Amino acid sequence: MLLLFAAPAASAWAAAPDQWITLSNTCHAISATPAPGRDLPLPGQFVCRGEPQGYQHGSLWLQVGATTLARAGAQPVVMVHSSRFDALRVGFFYADGSAEWQGVAHGNYGARWRLGGQIAFDPPLRDAPLTRIVLRFDRLASAPMLRMRLVDNGAAQLQATAMACMIGAALMLLTVGALYNFGLALAVRRQFPAWQGAWATCMVAWGALWSQFHLFFVPAMAGAVSAQACIALSCLATLLGTLSLITAIDRQHLPPWLARTTLLVALVCGGLGVPLSLMRSGPMELWAQVLGLLVLLLLALAGACLVVAWLRGSAAARAFVGAWAVPMLVMGLSGVIDTNHAFWGGGSQMMVLAASAWQTVWLAVAATRRFMGMRIERDRALVAEAAAHEQARRDPLTGLRNRRGFMAAIAPLFDRVVEAPGAALDDGDALALLLLDVDRFKAINDTHGHDAGDSVLITLAKRLARWEAPTCVPARLGGEEFALLVKGMGRFAALQLAESVRSGLSGCDHSPILGPGQVTVSVGVAMARPGDDFGTLYRTADAALYAAKHQGRNRVVIAPDVLCSDGTVSQRAAFAGSGS
Ligand code: GH3
Ligand code: MG
Ligand code: MG
Repeated sequence: MLLLFAAPAASAWAAAPDQWITLSNTCHAISATPAPGRDLPLPGQFVCRGEPQGYQHGSLWLQVGATTLARAGAQPVVMVHSSRFDALRVGFFYADGSAEWQGVAHGNYGARWRLGGQIAFDPPLRDAPLTRIVLRFDRLASAPMLRMRLVDNGAAQLQATAMACMIGAALMLLTVGALYNFGLALAVRRQFPAWQGAWATCMVAWGALWSQFHLFFVPAMAGAVSAQACIALSCLATLLGTLSLITAIDRQHLPPWLARTTLLVALVCGGLGVPLSLMRSGPMELWAQVLGLLVLLLLALAGACLVVAWLRGSAAARAFVGAWAVPMLVMGLSGVIDTNHAFWGGGSQMMVLAASAWQTVWLAVAATRRFMGMRIERDRALVAEAAAHEQARRDPLTGLRNRRGFMAAIAPLFDRVVEAPGAALDDGDALALLLLDVDRFKAINDTHGHDAGDSVLITLAKRLARWEAPTCVPARLGGEEFALLVKGMGRFAALQLAESVRSGLSGCDHSPILGPGQVTVSVGVAMARPGDDFGTLYRTADAALYAAKHQGRNRVVIAPDVLCSDGTVSQRAAFAGSGS
């Protein structure tokens, strides 16, 4: 960006002003076009008034006289901006009667092309001064559209460097913008960055063709073909730019009729590029003016879309206003003021290129901000959803898993058990369910109040949570009943764990709430048998818990293994207790 704006400023400061060659400061003549390989004698007479007519199928001669030359310095370079013609020859005439002719032909500009869409003709250094310059255009499409300058030799070098910097910077920004927008389109799967990327690509192609950058790679494309492709591309760019604008704004922010009308005008502008690019004669200037008016209409419609969408609260419209303000101003200005002579004859195109680079950088930043915002919002929603999900699986009083959370957490642990009916489970797959119930809890509530009861439950839950591990899942199943599912422990180890859980919970200090005394728990333990589901295991553990209560509470009872008649191990409700 810095290079884009600093280069012209630096060179404008350093360079001398150019002398323009126009139809009004030259004399003209028209002749038949010579056969290929043949040359023509100079016309006998040049007319110095009015505009030349009927040259499109012949040769147009323009003579730059001594008065214009005198203003251009001693060693002027002739710079002709590439236009639609088949061939161009430039003759330098000296006071000693000698002459030097140089020429380019459509498809072959040799070493004469310069960045910025120009062709340079450098007069050889002679002792005698230059007296006149004659230019001969064969099959020129439009004389009024010609742009030609006499530039001081030193200034020409400086201008070429500044022009190369500006064009290089603009094309680079547009290329980066195009790639970035395509990447963004893929990442967020939205239409708008894709159109924006297509537009930037189109502008890169247009900029490369207009500035003749492509001649580095395809020198044979020099001349009319490139100029014709430029027209088609600039029309296509208006269509793509409009599509990117319309797709960026959400539907509810734009009246459908306005969107449709804008798209229709954009389609007409885009479509006009085809006949305009193919034209080599006929009313080209008229068509160019029609296109100019249509572009102004399109700009007005695009502006209306932005204003309406902005008023309806569209964030995209606000971003677009910043991005489109500069190109709109440039295009609007070039429709009203003649900017062709600015930037060493590259005026309007150079401004469009710079404005496009500005637009694509601005929009890329705006789109990134918009999508980043959406991403942050989405991440927040995901976090909130995950939190709500987790909350639904937690008991609000104790923070332990509730029955639903417990079932979800232990389901994967049951896979091996359910899959292996009849087979023995090795210790690694063994599952033990410990059911815990607070003893005489109702009495605590009745004596100390419900809040005191809650505090007891919280204290017990905190203590129980200490056993939590990937293979040990605690939960509050309801009321004053807790559970612990343990994987990978054999019968003996499970019994020992149950005992330490019982003594651990019974050892909790509740004295600040209940005063002296102890709150005890009873534990029922069941070992899962191959093929057991949770329901079966729960019922067995519950029966063991019932037995523990029955045997006097504050104890652990494990459902016993029984060898069945078919050889499998079973448990039944004949329980052996342990405890205090
Ligand atoms: P047992 O030793 O036979 O288990 O006797 P118990 O009193 O503990 O058993 P019972 O089922 O008769 O009483 C359980 C009580 O737990 C009844 C109910 O009011 C109370 N309770 C259930 N949920 C809560 C709770 O969230 N907070 C409080 N404070 N009390 C609860
Ligand atoms: Mg109880
Ligand atoms: Mg109970």
